[in-house]
Order: sequence, then C-alpha cells, then structure tokens
Amino acid sequence: MINAVTLNKIKTARVIAVLTGAGISAPSGIPTFRGSDGLWKNYKPEELANSHAFSKNPQLVWEWYTWRKNLIRNVKPNAAHYALVEMEKLYHEFNIITQNVDNLHTLAGSRRVIELHGNIMRSKCSKCSKPYVEEFDPRLHIPQCLICGALIRPEVVWFGEMLPEAAIHDARKIVSSCEILFVVGTSGVVEPAASLPFLAKTGKAVVIEVNPDITPFSPHADEVSRIPADQFFPRLVESLAVKREGKY
Ligand code: NAD
Ligand code: ZN
Repeated sequence: MINAVTLNKIKTARVIAVLTGAGISAPSGIPTFRGSDGLWKNYKPEELANSHAFSKNPQLVWEWYTWRKNLIRNVKPNAAHYALVEMEKLYHEFNIITQNVDNLHTLAGSRRVIELHGNIMRSKCSKCSKPYVEEFDPRLHIPQCLICGALIRPEVVWFGEMLPEAAIHDARKIVSSCEILFVVGTSGVVEPAASLPFLAKTGKAVVIEVNPDITPFSPHADEVSRIPADQFFPRLVESLAVKREGKY
C-alpha cells in the first residue's frame, strides 16, 4: 500500500497535514464535481456555482444548493473521515485542509479543520456577508438580509471568488511547514487549493497522493497510492498501531 521508508517517515513525523477534496466524501454518497454523477438537471457545477448565475437566477442556484444540502444531511462520514480523527490523536500537530463544503470532517470528530471553500450548511448575505441560519424553500421565496435587503446566499466560495483570507493564509503556512502532506481525493484543478501540494514540495514535506485516478499533481508526488481513501486511511491507522503503543 505504501513503501516501508515512507511508512516509517509517517510513523516518526510530528507534524502532518491532509488536503482533502470531494473524493474523500464520495464513499459517503456525495457526488464529486467531475464524476459522472456530478450533474444536477444537466447543469455543470461551474454553471451554477458563480455569482453571475446567482444574480441571473437565484432561485435556480438555491434549488441546486437545497438539493445538495438535503443530500448531505442524509449521509454520514465514512471510514476515511473517521481514520483521520484517529490519526489526529497520534500527532503533535495534525491539520486537515479541506475543499469540501460538506462538514463531514467536523461531524466525524476532527478538531483542526480549515474550510477553504466555506460550508454549505451556513448562509450569508450576498452583499454585507451577515451570517444567516434560516432554512427556507427557494421555490417559494429567498430571504433578504435584515440589514441591507440583499438576497441570502450559501456561505461557500464560488468560482471566480477569493478564498477566505485567513483560511488560505493558514493553509499555506501549514503545508509549508509540515513533514508529511497527504493529498486526498482532489482532482487538483481548482486554484488556489491546487497549488498547495506544490508549495509543500518547496518546504520539507513528503507529499503522498491518495486517489484512484491520475491527477496533474501525480507526477510530482513523492508517493502515490491508488487505493480509495476509505480503504487507505483505515489500513494506515492499523499500521500506526505501533506508534499508539508509544514505541515512536
Ligand atoms: P473533484 O470532483 O474535482 O475531484 C474528485 C477527485 O476525487 C477525483 O480526482 C477522483 O479521482 C477522486 N476520488 C474519487 N473517489 C475517491 C476515493 N474513494 N478516494 C480518493 N479519491 C477519490 O473534486 P475537488 O478536487 O475537491 O474540486 C472540486 C470542487 O468541488 C471543490 O472546490 C469542492 O469545494 C467542491 N465539491 C465539494 C463536495 C463536497 O463538499 N463533498 C462535493 C463536490 C464538489
Ligand atoms: Zn446584508
């Protein structure tokens, strides 16, 4: 599954980071964007997840998000999410940087999670960013901000938008200084998250890709595992049992 030298480095490391994408949640039943089941009513995610689509047809965009929110509410974290919770307990510093908006790392019990692209379960004003928690049926109405009157939108980062400054700043700091970076279930085409594994390589990190498919980062990874994340991480946690017994 992984070469013995790398496994030893994982065992002896103190500072580990994990960059996750939609693939880690795929075994929970949440479609990835680039998988064959990523379409809703024949729209590509890029066509709906942008501010232009929202100004043109907020109802359509909200209907898509409501469909995704309901889907996410009905799924559970999988073995990969739970294995990462176990790993967090074994290391001096263990950070997850996720592109996912599904909240599954936190739901599983991971404590240090940086959400690069926001969280689909939260909403905010499309103009002044005031947070809202209200649930509603977008086919009937879309609530307006109590302060400025603009429409409420999902608190996620849309294509063409900047990432939350603190999140990307912290993510860059973490990958630059970690000893091991796992790059899990991400196609590596959405910037600036796609640059993080390359940034890790300019630091001291050993970068390990976990993805059944080849990605643009694959040729640059120090090690690649083509085993799906929900099998890879539980097996890795088993191999780390020796660490748990305090021998490292
Ligand atoms: P992506 O859809 O572009 O790529 C998913 C990757 O996961 C692919 O490379 C695929 O080979 C891999 N994969 C599939 N099953 C896997 C498994 N079991 N184990 C490991 N890897 C597996 O996703 P992305 O790179 O995260 O970028 C898409 C954008 O879409 C992100 O910005 C993200 O916010 C958003 N998105 C989020 C969710 C979510 O929150 N669950 C779902 C879809 C899309
Ligand atoms: Zn407002």
